[in-house]
Amino acid sequence: MDASTLIPAQADLTALKAAASGCTACELHGPATQTVFGSGNPQAKVLLVGEQPGDVEDQKGIPFVGPAGKLLQRAVAEAGFPPGAVYVTNAVKHFRFELRGKRRIHQTPLPEHIQACNPWVGAEIAAVRPEIVVCLGATAVKALLGSKYRVTKDRGELMRYAGPGARPETRALLTIHPSAILRMPDDAREQGYADLVRDLAVVVQAVSV
Ligand code: SF4
Repeated sequence: MDASTLIPAQADLTALKAAASGCTACELHGPATQTVFGSGNPQAKVLLVGEQPGDVEDQKGIPFVGPAGKLLQRAVAEAGFPPGAVYVTNAVKHFRFELRGKRRIHQTPLPEHIQACNPWVGAEIAAVRPEIVVCLGATAVKALLGSKYRVTKDRGELMRYAGPGARPETRALLTIHPSAILRMPDDAREQGYADLVRDLAVVVQAVSV
C-alpha cells in the first residue's frame, strides 16, 4: 500500500490524522503502539520536523513530549517563539525500535521507511502552509531536502524549500535534532543547546510570530 492513497483530497489536519491512524504502508506500524501524527498550531508560520516518535511519544500518541521534546520546547521558547506558535511533527510517524529485554531501544528509520511516510509529512506541510519548515536532524533533512544537504555544513541558513508540500514562497532551515544534544558529552551539551537556540532565533527573526 502507498500512503498517498490514504490521503483524502483537500484534507485538513483532523482528517489527515484520522487517515494516518490506519496507515500500514510500511512495516513500522506492526511493533509500534500507534501512529504519532503532528500537533500544534494548525496555522503556524513555522513547522518543525523531527525524525520519528520516541518511546514516550509512541505511548502517548503525541510528538515531542519525551526528553528531547522537552528540550526542544525550552529551546523554542528561548529563541523567542510565543507559546503555541509552532506545529511539530516527524518525518516518520511510527516508532522504530529494537527490543533489548524489556527496553525498547530507538533505531534510526531506514530510507524505505522515510520514503513510505513522506506523503504524510508532505500533506501536513500542505495543510499548515508554513512560511518556514525547520528540519531537525539528518532524517528530516533526507526526507524533505534530499541527500545533498548536511546538518553540519548547512545548519542555520534559510534556503528555498521545494520538498513535499512546498509552496513557491516556502523556506527551510536545518538544525540539529534535540536528541543529539542529549547524547553529547556533558561538557559539550550547553554549547549544543545554545547553537540550537541560535538557529531557531534565525527563524523567529525571519517571520513575525
Ligand atoms: S511509518 Fe508512516 S508509512 Fe510507515 S506505517 Fe507508519 S504512518 Fe505508515
